[in-house]
Amino acid sequence: MTDWVSQLADDVIAESERRAPGETIVCASGLSPSGPIHLGNLREVMTPHLVADEIRRRGLDCVHLLSWDDYDRFRKVPAGIDPSWAEHIGKPLTSVPAPPGSAYPNWAEHFKTPMISALARLGVTYRGISQTKQYTSGVYREQILHAMRERDRIDAVLSRYRTKPKTQSKAHPKAKAMDADEAAALEGSGAAEEEAGYYPYKPYCALCGRDLTTVTGYDDETTELAYTCACGYGETVRLATHDRGKLVWKVDWPMRWAYEGVVFEPSGVDHTSPGSSFEVGGHLVGEIFGGAQPIGPRYAFVGISGMAKMSSSKGGVPTPADALEIMEAPLLRWMYARRKPAQSFKVAFDQEIQRLYDEWDALERKVTDGQALPADQLAHARAVRTAEQPLESSARRVPYRMLASIADVTTGDEEQTLRILRELDPAEPITDLALVRPRLDRAQRWVATQLPAEQRTTVRQEPDEELLSGLGEPQRESLRLLLDSLDAHWSLDGLTDLVYGVPKRQAGLPADAKATPELKAAQREFFVLLYTLLVGRDTGPRLPTLLLAVGAGRVRKLLGA
Ligand SMILES: [Zn+2]
Repeated sequence: MTDWVSQLADDVIAESERRAPGETIVCASGLSPSGPIHLGNLREVMTPHLVADEIRRRGLDCVHLLSWDDYDRFRKVPAGIDPSWAEHIGKPLTSVPAPPGSAYPNWAEHFKTPMISALARLGVTYRGISQTKQYTSGVYREQILHAMRERDRIDAVLSRYRTKPKTQSKAHPKAKAMDADEAAALEGSGAAEEEAGYYPYKPYCALCGRDLTTVTGYDDETTELAYTCACGYGETVRLATHDRGKLVWKVDWPMRWAYEGVVFEPSGVDHTSPGSSFEVGGHLVGEIFGGAQPIGPRYAFVGISGMAKMSSSKGGVPTPADALEIMEAPLLRWMYARRKPAQSFKVAFDQEIQRLYDEWDALERKVTDGQALPADQLAHARAVRTAEQPLESSARRVPYRMLASIADVTTGDEEQTLRILRELDPAEPITDLALVRPRLDRAQRWVATQLPAEQRTTVRQEPDEELLSGLGEPQRESLRLLLDSLDAHWSLDGLTDLVYGVPKRQAGLPADAKATPELKAAQREFFVLLYTLLVGRDTGPRLPTLLLAVGAGRVRKLLGA
């Protein structure tokens, strides 16, 4: 039995055995806390997570490193933030004040924290590494001095890819339109033809804290490094003791592959361009740092469909935490597990989530019955538990669309919700809301934050007397037939039979009559009548659910009994 995760795990285990026999296998991800961490970026973590998890399931030692690129420069002020934050552009993300009103000490922490909690809820285990901590504590000292000694060779490798002007490089995953400072943060300042020479290290200015610095000289013997800053400041430091700067991104990444012994690290499709940091890094890691490039599949874009503006946490960017508010962790894990990294997909925030949940429930039934295809069975297994622990899930699986309808009609009232759930299946009544949590909470949240106001259901308080008094005899008869059998059919299945059955009886057809176009039209007409009398419009939640939600007493009253 195999799937893409198993295949990658096989490759990673074999490669690790070649490179470092007997050592802990290292998978890695990197995230930049430069703003809200988009749900799309979750793939950067989920891909290595699933592979590392598979390796651990096989009983092997495997660590998933998650690098927080929090020593990267602050690139721009996101929409919705005080424009005065522009004065911090060029500082490390951990030196930028958190957005106004935040409880966190700095920008990076503010955006890391919700991601950390979402990863915990998703069952993702990893070893987090703050690059600020690494650089400022001198962990990479030898690597930095080595890169400076090898600067001409690094420059030569980079220059093989410099066919376009440097500022048009598309190398960095987070880079869109870059200015010269950003380009320098990727590659370093000063190409070979310039007088000052090329340097792969960029100090953060001692005076203003920004990286608007230019290295003007370096002595390999003494490690004395001179720089000037756009703010006018300049100084000479000893790099052997200097801990306020970093290797430029294209050198930093391969340095860390070698330092950490990374065997598996995926990257976004934007890395496929010639001269990408992944490609360039592949040359630098061997030629300069004596390491090897990780196995690194490209993963495709993950999109979002139909997210209501109001619920997006700050600035219209959906985060994993937003998704976990409306869906359970296993469902979100499943979306990543069942698609190969090269396949793109969308995470649904609109009605599509109901169909997705139906599909998920159908898979669960197949797995329980032993009918699922091998790859589907594996994707399911990866979704519901990790090597360490099962993920939280509801004890009783009530369809999400039904919970959403109940939440819609009851507006979350617990007593009403429990009454309806108890009546769904009288043979096996749900006696406690805890049995349907956390799915119930997610569906309630979905209704509250994603269901557009015009699609909400409002049950009528009083009967529509005008409509009732104007009904013709066939319509009155249909309501009578429904009401007479209501009590005997008061369950989800019973009411389903009843609402479809009334038009059959009126047409003199047996209960098991096949649907003809005439019968379908009669059923549709009957349903529209019920919707109009119950909720004042011609559509709504599925009728059996709606009837249960409204309650027998109120149904009688609104239908004119
Ligand atoms: Zn400065």
